[in-house]
Amino acid sequence: MPSKIWIDGRLVDKADAKVSVYDHGLLYGDGIFEGIRAYNGKIFECEAHLDRFLQSAKGIRLTLPMSREQLRAAMEETIKGNGFTDCYIRLVATRGVGSLGLSPVRCERPSVFIIADLLELYPREMYEKGMAVITASTIRNHPNAMPPRVKSLNYLNNILAKLEAIDAGVSEAIMLNHEGNVAECTADNIFIVRSGQLQTPQTCDGILEGVTRRVILELAAKLQVPAVEKTLQKHDLYVADECFLTGTGAEVIPVTKIDGRVIGTGQVGTVTRKLLEAYHRRVKEG
Ligand code: PMP
Repeated sequence: MPSKIWIDGRLVDKADAKVSVYDHGLLYGDGIFEGIRAYNGKIFECEAHLDRFLQSAKGIRLTLPMSREQLRAAMEETIKGNGFTDCYIRLVATRGVGSLGLSPVRCERPSVFIIADLLELYPREMYEKGMAVITASTIRNHPNAMPPRVKSLNYLNNILAKLEAIDAGVSEAIMLNHEGNVAECTADNIFIVRSGQLQTPQTCDGILEGVTRRVILELAAKLQVPAVEKTLQKHDLYVADECFLTGTGAEVIPVTKIDGRVIGTGQVGTVTRKLLEAYHRRVKEG
């Protein structure tokens, strides 16, 4: 459990880390965030997360009160201040305190806070045996509404899909896009393997450009696993030989059942296992 939270320039006791009820991050979901991991005291893919954070800020026209260097230093201070070497880091920027109207113009200063904590999303067993998922009826946000490429504080779209997963007794839901093609899961990107080829939806299919997704594509290239970013339909998932999800929180988790259909042999596939192991080696290297 963390004892210290970094908020607006300093580390404070968890009990004293508070934001106003007038903060537009709370009132309207007006803000952005990143989910990051540190391994062996080093922030994994720190620059990639900072890139995406700054791009999310730009996307919603939020002028951050801190530079990239200050953000990096604040995250490091938070990890050290809590005595962590391996942890999950939540970096958040809200529009700040404003009036009850929607207009962000009246919010004087964005608020930035950082939480470092332990996070285990799924039981260990699921990483060995694979997880069951469903496809949700709730579709992913239209890219011209709230672009999925922006990691905004408004996750209701994903939460509605997550509730469908919970109702179905599974841990994750695959979300289709406005065209009915596969986008991603509520907090993870999705990959399949078909005839030895790794396949994952493209950015233009309405996904968050996952950092873990990019690392997996790099590892696939290194391991000479052929990989392609392409539009996928639900049927492609059903007839896949293997399937797995990627995300900072979940890392790499195999999927062995989708909408009641067994994927491949129903066991964790060889390509998945190879990439999962390579990913764990990669995080150890930093
Ligand atoms: N898609 C969504 C909707 C997410 O929230 C996340 C992050 N949890 C991901 C994909 C995976 O992104 P990353 O690998 O950068 O954590």
